[in-house]
Amino acid sequence: MDLAQTESTLYVPEWTFAGYRDACPIQKGHRVPTPYICNCRHKADPFSTNSEFTTHIKNKYHQLWVSKYHDTVSKDMELLNRENTALKRDKQILQAQVSKLDARVRRLEGEVTKFDEKTQEVTRQMEERHNLELHEVAESSFLQEKRNTELEERILAETERNAILHAKLDKIKSVLD
Ligand SMILES: [Zn+2]
Repeated sequence: MDLAQTESTLYVPEWTFAGYRDACPIQKGHRVPTPYICNCRHKADPFSTNSEFTTHIKNKYHQLWVSKYHDTVSKDMELLNRENTALKRDKQILQAQVSKLDARVRRLEGEVTKFDEKTQEVTRQMEERHNLELHEVAESSFLQEKRNTELEERILAETERNAILHAKLDKIKSVLD
């Protein structure tokens, strides 16, 4: 039976005030569908019934394993605690980095907002200046037109006066003749 590809349950000794002791997890006369495996001999001897369990725990490797189970568990706990402490420290470092990055993102967002506002202001000023220039051009062309009209009127008046003078001159010439 290939254990690596079979589902199984890990056997754990029972805790008593006297320490860890073997206690069969399987009821007498029953066979469990998923076998129990024990870590005492690298999971090499699975058991599914009460009698298989009884045979298993008679093995001296198993008995040695149970007697040292408390130490193993304590060592595992100690390792886990150390790992936990290291992880907590890493978490604090990462949180500090995240906070720094957040602050940097906020600062950059602030700069972007300021830049946007400045761009809008410059655009507004440019539009204003452009409109003013258009207005000035319109005003100066209006003035030029007005001046042209005045000149035309003056020319017309001059021409009329000239005509009158010519008429007078013609009269004087005819009297003299
Ligand atoms: Zn065992």
